[in-house]
Amino acid sequence: VSEKLRSSGLLRTQGLIGGKWIDSYDKTTIKVIHPYLPLDFKATGLLLLASSYILSPQVNNPATGEIVADVACMGVKETNDAIASSYEAFQSWSRRTAGERSKVLRRWIIRPVWQWRNVFHGSQMPMKLKFDLLVAHKEELGQLITLEQGKPLKEAIGEVAYGASFIEYYAEEAKRVYGDIIPPNSSDRRLLVLKQPIGVVGAITPWNFPLAMITRKVGPALASGCTVVVKPSELTPLTALAAAELALQAGVPPGALNVVMGNAPEIGDALLASPQVRKITFTGSTAVGKKLMAAAAPTVKKVSLELGGNAPSIIFDDADLDVAVKGTLAAKFRNSGQTCVCANRVLVQDGIYDKFAEAFSEAVQKLEVGDGFKEGATQGPLINDAAIQKVESFVQDAVSKGAKVLLGGKKHSLGMTFYEPTVIRDVTSNMIMSKEEIFGPVAPLIRFKTEEDAIRIANDTIAGLAAYIFTNSVQRSWRVSEALEYGLVGVNEGIISTEVAPFGGVKQSGLGREGSKYGMDEYHEIKYICMGDM
Ligand code: ADP
Repeated sequence: VSEKLRSSGLLRTQGLIGGKWIDSYDKTTIKVIHPYLPLDFKATGLLLLASSYILSPQVNNPATGEIVADVACMGVKETNDAIASSYEAFQSWSRRTAGERSKVLRRWIIRPVWQWRNVFHGSQMPMKLKFDLLVAHKEELGQLITLEQGKPLKEAIGEVAYGASFIEYYAEEAKRVYGDIIPPNSSDRRLLVLKQPIGVVGAITPWNFPLAMITRKVGPALASGCTVVVKPSELTPLTALAAAELALQAGVPPGALNVVMGNAPEIGDALLASPQVRKITFTGSTAVGKKLMAAAAPTVKKVSLELGGNAPSIIFDDADLDVAVKGTLAAKFRNSGQTCVCANRVLVQDGIYDKFAEAFSEAVQKLEVGDGFKEGATQGPLINDAAIQKVESFVQDAVSKGAKVLLGGKKHSLGMTFYEPTVIRDVTSNMIMSKEEIFGPVAPLIRFKTEEDAIRIANDTIAGLAAYIFTNSVQRSWRVSEALEYGLVGVNEGIISTEVAPFGGVKQSGLGREGSKYGMDEYHEIKYICMGDM
């Protein structure tokens, strides 16, 4: 396993600027901390392997339960150089045909390789076989994701496939960016509309999906003819760097994709201040998103934001109990509750409340908490101590105001940043967990009486990203889906994100959409050309 990782050349700790891997100019580094170091991980010998491949011995710190890699810590100067190289690359990348850009993107996921193959008895012929760059390396990339982010390896490998799907989709979509010809307002004129790439894009991404949150920005940006400076989360830069290495191998030209990481506010400010950066695309917390939006004003940048959610999962009396349990379980506990579309509040109607509470708790009890490298583990650790403290304080607040813990409710016996999958009943709207994003494995059950109540409670938040409803009534599905102030609605379904559908929030959950044909629009400007004297 790790042999593959070592020989793959995917372990990068420098930034990528203008097609070159470079240290930060003042040689400073930041540490990447593994969220946990369980004892059985040490016992398997994986630690030794991991430390020799990824980490330099002096920064390996098993005593405190941390695995640390040193990556370049960049700031304003490096970011300005990355912007300059992206600006230069834009001049030629944007002029390539859509077909040429599409081919480069496809090579990022699919690379043709010639091999000698037996055809008839003894005779051999060279044959073209297809290997996926991202997908062929799914195990190494998955290992990196588990190492730096903590999610179970199977889920991490799933993220690689999900991440690659955006590149594939936008490689296809690159060729379908159509303009318009408008019937003119005067007979000697012809009116045309062109869609043109917006220019250099600054992409700032979070730690919860270290690969997919990058590819769903970079895919449509490169497909459109834009060039990109990516700033991955300082908590998970290794996956981003590995993906960039594969992009280089695929033939993404120097400067078209840069990666800088380190001092987030400095890098952010440099991207925002530059008049050459025409767009900022961000996924992360609502607080940082608001700052970025304000700071984009002086240079009037186009802005896309994917911010926090407060997703309700609404279970009506007429729901199929098994479907509701399965859907809510998936929506709540994916990535240990650390996604912005995770169910944050489970609203359950009076008549099914007790039955649901029992069946749901039973299902949650079967989740297996553990080291992401351990076979069968479905719940990894939380990202860091701050995340644990937040979850603990939310649970404490709910219990002090009368909520009852049905399951879990405390740190897991594995220690570190593991938290027990938790179900809490009798949660009410005055408790912090029904107002703010938990971002952890805690499911609060809130009781409601009527459909109107459910809609009112669900919409009583500044967020508006994902919502889930469970009902067997077709009419109710329509009524409630339309009444919910959310950008995404799952009906009898808990996992709804896909590259072919638009993802994005309303209200303070964000601006713009990612994925689907709509995701392409975010990287275009519309130009109107009026041809006179015709
Ligand atoms: P999360 O809670 O998901 O970590 P953040 O909003 O803190 O959300 O982080 C998301 C991304 O935003 C990360 O890449 C982080 O480094 C970056 N970031 C945080 N603060 C700033 C800032 N002031 N300017 C630019 N980027 C920032």
